[in-house]
Amino acid sequence: MVSRKQASKSYYLIAPIVGLVLLSDLVQFMLKNIYLDYNATAPILDAVKTAMTNLGEEYGNPSSVHRFGRSQRAKVEEARLKVARLVNANSHQVVFTSGGTEANNLALTGVDVNSRIVSAIEHDSILNCVNGITVAPVQNSGVIDVEKFEKLLVKAAPPVLVSFMLANNETGVIQPIEEVGRIVKRHGALLHCDAVQGVGRIPVDILRLGIDMMTISAHKLGGPQGVAALIVGKNVRLKPQILGGGQERGLRAGTENVPGIIGFGEAAKIVKFSLKSWNRIVHLRDKLETCLVGVLGNNIRFFGNKCARLPNTTCLAHNEISAETQLIKLDLKGIAVSAGSACSSGKIKTSHVLEAMGVESKLARNAIRISLGPETQETEIDYFLEVYTGMKKIGVEHAA
Ligand code: PLP
Repeated sequence: MVSRKQASKSYYLIAPIVGLVLLSDLVQFMLKNIYLDYNATAPILDAVKTAMTNLGEEYGNPSSVHRFGRSQRAKVEEARLKVARLVNANSHQVVFTSGGTEANNLALTGVDVNSRIVSAIEHDSILNCVNGITVAPVQNSGVIDVEKFEKLLVKAAPPVLVSFMLANNETGVIQPIEEVGRIVKRHGALLHCDAVQGVGRIPVDILRLGIDMMTISAHKLGGPQGVAALIVGKNVRLKPQILGGGQERGLRAGTENVPGIIGFGEAAKIVKFSLKSWNRIVHLRDKLETCLVGVLGNNIRFFGNKCARLPNTTCLAHNEISAETQLIKLDLKGIAVSAGSACSSGKIKTSHVLEAMGVESKLARNAIRISLGPETQETEIDYFLEVYTGMKKIGVEHAA
């Protein structure tokens, strides 16, 4: 039996040690600020901030005919051209929206079709947008099953709209859009592509890929949040979904978000010429994966790593530690990553993407997504590895 006196003595010995440990965690947390969540949003580029703040004292509605309005209109049109050039489109094809979500909704609901086919791994803004969609499966690799898709397309009542993403936001897996584009054309259907995660990270040419409509979002490219574009091909008859004004060639009512659009244009101009910078990022991502396997062996599993992926993304699960615990522990060390499926409400739900890839749900609940960017440094990856490999499970975990 430990006497009261002994207990209080050991309390006085242990308390300062615990205090020091907590303090050192706090200091580490305050010192480290490691952002590995570029697929959620990329930091705004300095040149974008400058372009947006240079707008400064200027004002005016771009639809007004006076000089104030005309000056704003000129800026919007300049940005439109930069966004179009990023994907080899014409500027009159660019419809600015409030985000990738709205652009996806517009593409899905704005065309008059009898059938819509989307893949099982699309973003919720595609999957939850209209009723009665047909869902095309993906293979375990995370790549759309093109053969099964073509069978669905043949059976679907025409006219058909197909919507497949260019690269998946959770796994980074790049989809065979050029091949899909050829199939879609052969069957006289329309192809929309959510290219939000791909544009600015891999070369994207809307003509070469055979895409009729494409979604791009500014905040994944180093531009501001709350602005995006739907690029609309000349053969597409699109009906606006937001009504009450003739802006955006009558396809999206509402006064344009001028500062946001200017920032978007600037980001588009910069990323068009900085694709090479991702070569360094692939190397860092691969180093991260190799080192994790080296230390954790079979305790770590990767998803989508057997095929072409975005240069910056890795999706992995720890066999023994839940995504929530990993996120919290990493956050306490100043490292930001996402759960396999970061829900917009901030809660973590099981990833529909991993489920579609046939990943066991117990393991899927342990999945996190790490996404790097042009600003990521090797020292940051080394620090991540040190923290991650030292992580221990706590309490009851989802053991796979
Ligand atoms: N599509 C994909 C693939 C995404 O990853 C996201 C955002 O995470 C969106 C669409 C939605 O874009 P936004 O955040 O601009 O609404």
